[in-house]
Order: sequence, then C-alpha cells, then structure tokens
Amino acid sequence: MENTNEMQVIFDSRSSNESFARVTVAAFMTALNPTVEEVSDVKTAVSEAVTNAIIHGYENEVHSISIRCRTEGKTLYLEVADHGKGIEDVQQAMEPLFTTKPELDRSGMGFSFMEAFMDRLEVESEPGKGTVVRMEKTIGKGRRLWTTQSL
Ligand code: ATP
Ligand code: MG
Repeated sequence: MENTNEMQVIFDSRSSNESFARVTVAAFMTALNPTVEEVSDVKTAVSEAVTNAIIHGYENEVHSISIRCRTEGKTLYLEVADHGKGIEDVQQAMEPLFTTKPELDRSGMGFSFMEAFMDRLEVESEPGKGTVVRMEKTIGKGRRLWTTQSL
C-alpha cells in the first residue's frame, strides 16, 4: 500500500533505553509533519509503556522489549510488547490511580496518560506470557478547544 511505512526495534529492558525508545519513535514519526506537541504526546506515551515493561513486566530483569510502528496516511500505529509477567486484570490495571507498586512511588497514572495523549489505547495481556500495548494517533487533528467557526 502506498503512503505506509513500518519499522520495528527490539532492545534490552534497561531504563537507560527509555530515552532511546522515545527518540526513535519521534524520529520515525517526523515524516508525518507533527507539531512539537504531537511529538511530545507520543514520546510520553512511549515512555510510559516502556517503563511499564521494564518495571512491571520484567521487574527489572533484562529481557527484550519490542516496538513496532506503522504509519498509514497521517495515522501512527504503535505497539509496545514485552514477554514478561503479564497483567491479571487489564481493566483494573487501566483504571486511573491503580498501581501494584505503590511502595515504589508509582502513582498508577501511566495508562491514563497513554489514553489522554493518544487517540486510542488497547492492552492485551496474558499472565506468564506478556503484554502488548497498542496505541494510535492521527497527526494534524490539533487540540484546540473550539474551532474558528464557532468564534
Ligand atoms: P505510574 O505509571 O504512574 O508510575 P504504574 O506503572 O503502577 O504507575 P500504570 O502505568 O497505569 O501505573 O500501570 C498500572 C498497573 O498495570 C501497574 O501497576 C502494573 O500492575 C500493571 N502493568 C502495566 N504495564 C504492565 C506490563 N507491561 N507488565 C505487567 N504489568 C503491567
Ligand atoms: Mg506505569
């Protein structure tokens, strides 16, 4: 299909790779001509998903995290996957303020941020198998609260 582009990166689940991950996705999406704010939204979402894979999925053991990205027209599709411990109750995990690691100063807002900064968020997980976080964002929609017509 024309107007599409894909990439995949696989990297170690070290916290030093968080910035690598978000910068890589940011670089990939520049072809869509995003605003600074749109890039920053995607970087935040990638950071949250990768941090979750590192601290919850693998509990700080070093294994592989994979990020797959696809653009189709002006839409960016993003998948962050780990083969870690998985999530027992995905619906509960996605609730704002829910965390299984309050002792580590976690606020339980990661999924809420991903949801707020992206257009779509979907989480697939199986205990003992791992987690895939799928996100989608269409570039060029803007974030204005009103349109010029309504003024
Ligand atoms: P914060 O992101 O605010 O630092 P948090 O990571 O606990 O806190 P979320 O990112 O919203 O909050 O995740 C909620 C919960 O979902 C986590 O506490 C954890 O139990 C579970 N979780 C999230 N991602 C994964 C993952 N990749 N593997 C296993 N469990 C996960
Ligand atoms: Mg988190």
